[in-house]
Amino acid sequence: SELYRLQGWGAPYFVINSQGHLCVRPSGSAEGTDEVDLVAVIETLAANHIHLPLVLRFPDILHHRMLELQTCFSLAASKFNYKQQFQGVFPIKCNHERHMVEQIVECGFGLEVGSKPELLIAMAKLGSRAGRLLICNGYKDSAYVNNVLLAQRLGIHAVLVLEQMEELEEVISCSNRLGVRPILGLRAKMSTKHNGHWGNTSGDNSKFGLTVNEIVAVVHQLRQEGMLDCLQLLHFHIGSQISSILTIKEVMREGSHTYCELARMGAPMGFIDVGGGLGIDYDGTKSQSSASANYSMQNYANDVVAALMDACLLKGVAEPVIISESGRALASHSSVLVFDVLSASHYPYHSVTLNIDNLAKDAAACLMIDEECLVQVYSSMEVGNAQEAYNDAKQLREEAGSLFKLGCLSLEQRAQAEALYDCVSQQMLTFAPQLSDELRLSLAATYHVNLSVFRSAPDSWAIDQIFPIMPLHRLTEKPTTLATLADLTCDSDGKIDRFVGASGDISSVLPVHDLHEGEPYYLGLFLGGVYQEVLGSAHNLFGSTHVVHVRATGDGRFLIEHVLPGQSVGQVLCSTHHADLGLLHQLRAQTDAYVMSGDLSQEEAHMLMANYQHCLDSYTYLSSWPNLDRKE
Ligand code: PLP
Repeated sequence: SELYRLQGWGAPYFVINSQGHLCVRPSGSAEGTDEVDLVAVIETLAANHIHLPLVLRFPDILHHRMLELQTCFSLAASKFNYKQQFQGVFPIKCNHERHMVEQIVECGFGLEVGSKPELLIAMAKLGSRAGRLLICNGYKDSAYVNNVLLAQRLGIHAVLVLEQMEELEEVISCSNRLGVRPILGLRAKMSTKHNGHWGNTSGDNSKFGLTVNEIVAVVHQLRQEGMLDCLQLLHFHIGSQISSILTIKEVMREGSHTYCELARMGAPMGFIDVGGGLGIDYDGTKSQSSASANYSMQNYANDVVAALMDACLLKGVAEPVIISESGRALASHSSVLVFDVLSASHYPYHSVTLNIDNLAKDAAACLMIDEECLVQVYSSMEVGNAQEAYNDAKQLREEAGSLFKLGCLSLEQRAQAEALYDCVSQQMLTFAPQLSDELRLSLAATYHVNLSVFRSAPDSWAIDQIFPIMPLHRLTEKPTTLATLADLTCDSDGKIDRFVGASGDISSVLPVHDLHEGEPYYLGLFLGGVYQEVLGSAHNLFGSTHVVHVRATGDGRFLIEHVLPGQSVGQVLCSTHHADLGLLHQLRAQTDAYVMSGDLSQEEAHMLMANYQHCLDSYTYLSSWPNLDRKE
């Protein structure tokens, strides 16, 4: 498990059992009474014709994370004698899936929305729960505003958060028309900068929120309109995955004082919404790296509460209810993307057995270099000069490429120079095992995986985000191969070559086991429970994957609670406006014409149509694992 830093990013939810299988402990208990073996889940699903790739979702992990956040804030409130409560709201955009949203609402959380479709989900889910919080962010037109105002009539505490000055006119006219007084919030643009990838939501040039001048202007305008009593909430969000606790301390100081000033200016207030940003530890280092966070959930809660307490005491303002919009920290752990390896391409080992005499003769003649030199690079390689030999071989290979382009080298001769380079690279594994990242990458095997990176882990492609990835079985066997992963798409970006290294560094290769013919090899991608399913796209028309909800029932047993089927080929085609029936009719017309002209037999036409229909109804991913271990 050290190879993959499992303890660092996976505790307390993921462990390895004595059979070398990866297991989930959904309640985070150290005793493991609720341990679920992932291989057993995969095999049960396969027996029921539910094949990989798929997302396994563990609602109990989500529940545990929500309880943990609430507990951390209660402990912080007791510690600092803070007299108001904490109220979590889940940003629906992190994952819109119905069961997940329903579970979150069931657990006492409110919802945060940023668009009309999200608002409509939230209104329906919160409507039966009087007093529940609904935070309405994002760009708003009159249809959006009208719905929020009417949601109040259902007893929902629906807060319209003004993100831009222009929204105020719309809100005033809608509320006059409907005769409903709005509950208003302001989103402040914070000057505190967050330096991580999502940091452009912070600082003076950030896309969202009102500047200090605009906040003051809105307060004046509300006073003039006789609506200052509607202003209840201050919101800020400086970006997701904040890695440094110092940033949190700083933004909380700025936010707390802004809140107190609004109260001092006469707004009733009562709520502060500190946004999302609570980070998680993707690389298991508990550091300030952008894939980690140098603080715990408890540190976060303590700093939020302490900053508010300080400002409220200083300015003589009553403590507000604390709202957080954490998404990543709540839901990331609860999903595991499971996929299988279809085949492997290994580094060309054949070159080690090359005939060095021929190599020297052929290549040296045409490379116009001293043949002794060429042979010597390889044959005199030892621990002390390995790196130098590798550098020479690299240079010779480049020269051979240039000579080939000038027409001075045949293809076979160029192949000989390439072979020399391969021999030397291969020898590096023996003489200089602490390989440079470049060399490790060039010597790595490629494992072809049954997955689309664009569909299932888009942030890995789009923003180089690191997700922990590891085998789900054979974990008592030492991995023998270093590999990068190539997905099913016909796109060279459809690969993963950034992994959590054993020492917390970013490694270009993943330690894996050799494939056994006819046996599946399962890998898991972890901590992808937010944004990935939502942002995934249909590159090459690979559709959504199956999502399966699993509950632990104790003693190693589990219950498959929901199976949400992934898209079939036909469904994906419909989303591109090619109706499957339309395609079938077109094809039928073509086959009929061929049958009429005698170019196709009735039998062939029947087979063609049946295969086409079968494919339309099937999963977009590959359904078997040929496991071709290609050692060229
Ligand atoms: N609130 C707002 C306004 C956001 O834009 C986001 C995402 O960036 C979130 C909450 C969720 O943030 P996180 O997933 O970091 O908790």
